[in-house]
Amino acid sequence: RAKKSPSERVQFFASEFGEQVHRRQEMISGLKLAIHNQQLELQFQPQFDRARACTGYEVLLRWYHPVLGSVSPAEFIPLAEQTGLIVSIGDWVLEQALATLKLWVAQGFRGRLAVNVSAMQLHDEAFADRIATLLEQYGVAARYLELEITETALMENVERAMATLNRFRELGLDLAVDDFGTGYSSLAYFKVMPVSRIKIDRSFVSGLPENDQDEVLCRTIINMAHSMGCEVIAEGVETEAQASWLALAGCDELQGYLLGKPALEGFLPENIDI
Ligand code: C2E
Ligand code: MG
Ligand code: MG
Ligand code: MG
Repeated sequence: RAKKSPSERVQFFASEFGEQVHRRQEMISGLKLAIHNQQLELQFQPQFDRARACTGYEVLLRWYHPVLGSVSPAEFIPLAEQTGLIVSIGDWVLEQALATLKLWVAQGFRGRLAVNVSAMQLHDEAFADRIATLLEQYGVAARYLELEITETALMENVERAMATLNRFRELGLDLAVDDFGTGYSSLAYFKVMPVSRIKIDRSFVSGLPENDQDEVLCRTIINMAHSMGCEVIAEGVETEAQASWLALAGCDELQGYLLGKPALEGFLPENIDI
């Protein structure tokens, strides 16, 4: 087939670009109605200690669109953040998580449920009060709820974040720093921030145990976190070799497909390790 002429190529790029814009528009208008149309759902991914006992779950949001199908949060969360829709979506997630916790605790759950929080929620001045209200409304003790905030979100506005983090501590909430190692934070911040856990990003776990650089990074993160009195959990653990390397290096907890995928079903009363 003959080479495309420059004008044909321009047309090709223009239509490709047009499709992307169209998908983006379709997702934004869909997201606005996703809660109302009952297209959002929570999944739960278990977390384990070194003895492989389940200690809790991370809440992961799922979106099922009638035309687009199942859309990955890696794609729709950034859009929700750019458009501000994350504030109402995040609030919906929190409320569902607390309703779930209320039920689970009544059935004997004594672990923690970790909810992802975006920068825009963290920097919303009403956020800490909203959590306090929801905890009270659902009659759930704060120790069962953990908030996961990415290192990048925390560093966006350190002063503001510190004020909210201190409110979280007053409320008795646990705080985990998500995707640790991917941002450019100064370790000094974590000495003053009330953080209880560090989550090692999947991208460092995936190279274990063959990649020397990843080994050094993971070991450094584990030792640094422990020296600041934080626990460490590794995300994205997919192989036995990774799990045993991490356990030997002193990593407190593990999360990943090896031990459990995100699922609609979370705590069941018979899984009473917790
Ligand atoms: P994250 O918080 O770092 O969550 C971990 C992601 O890694 C999840 O992807 C999870 O399904 C995936 N994962 C877990 N174990 C493994 C593994 O062994 N191997 C591999 N390859 N992947 C694994 P998911 O569910 O697609 O979520 C992507 C991101 O979307 C999350 O990353 C989080 O940043 C964001 N997200 C999800 N739900 C929410 C939410 O309710 N609120 C906010 N603000 N963000 C959310
Ligand atoms: Mg997370
Ligand atoms: Mg993470
Ligand atoms: Mg991650």
